[in-house]
Amino acid sequence: KGKKLAKSSDKSIDLTAVLGAGIMGGGIAYQSAVKGTPVIMKDINRDALDLGLKEAAKILGKGMQRGKVDATKMATTLNAITPTLEYSTLKDADLVIEAVVENPKVKASVLQETEETVSDDAIICSNTSTISIDKLAESLKKPERFCGMHFFNPVHRMPLVEIIRGKDTTDATVNAVVAATMKMGKTPIVVNDCPGFLVNRVLFPYFAGFSKLVLDGADFTKVDKVMEKDFGWPMGPAYLLDVVGMDTANHAAGVMADGFPERMESIENDPVTLMYNEKRLGQKNGKGFYNYG
Ligand code: NAD
Repeated sequence: KGKKLAKSSDKSIDLTAVLGAGIMGGGIAYQSAVKGTPVIMKDINRDALDLGLKEAAKILGKGMQRGKVDATKMATTLNAITPTLEYSTLKDADLVIEAVVENPKVKASVLQETEETVSDDAIICSNTSTISIDKLAESLKKPERFCGMHFFNPVHRMPLVEIIRGKDTTDATVNAVVAATMKMGKTPIVVNDCPGFLVNRVLFPYFAGFSKLVLDGADFTKVDKVMEKDFGWPMGPAYLLDVVGMDTANHAAGVMADGFPERMESIENDPVTLMYNEKRLGQKNGKGFYNYG
């Protein structure tokens, strides 16, 4: 379906820029580079840029160990990522993907500054997980060239990208982003703007169901075993929450509850909230449902 959507008249993406070199921005930059589209990776912090590049080198190193990547591929991929602290380097980008912190004010100012720098026909996307695309679009003069482009973590392994169409997003913008997603080796799905988009609308009620099971006395390790080993999903809910992080999960659950109060009733003593309050954040700080040494 994605292939049919993209037309030869659609804008081609020859240079990508990613704003934010964190977990997601670094992963998106790597994915663009490894699939042959050069990418500018911008952050406000030199250490974040170094970490983003290191992460790309680590993924390529693992590929080399498995014999899937050779030295030339490693060098060309790393050379295709240009780290920068300056907005001015974005001026020739065809597609800018914003992946800075999940804060509406920071995102709005980053999007405004981007629009002032890039050409009139450049496409601008946000990788936000929870903020309304129409709300973010209000910060732009040309909202028709803006949409959501929601990757999943870890970017190099997760096939799906949700492309979120805002009320002003044009078909040409959606088509170009669908084509760019496929060029990055990912599977695009076009969805409307709503809290949680598609995946998190399914995932967060599932997490809520899991929390209630635990409060009913279920052993979370057994639930994980059933969902993973017996039911056949890649991982169970407790382990997945540790990967997502209790801070992110707690915030996103709140957004979902605000958006769909009739479907996401609040859970007294929700284990996710309790762990967040106790700073058991999951894999990012070594302790969540499980301990990571
Ligand atoms: P992160 O904290 O790892 O990285 C954010 C980066 O943005 C940092 O390196 C920070 O220095 C940089 N930054 C902050 N202000 C900036 C600015 N003004 N200009 C340029 N860079 C700036 O965060 P993350 O987990 O990579 O999340 C980034 C975005 O992706 C968020 O909107 C988040 O909701 C979304 N997202 C996250 C995940 C996930 O699992 N982590 C999954 C999907 C989407």
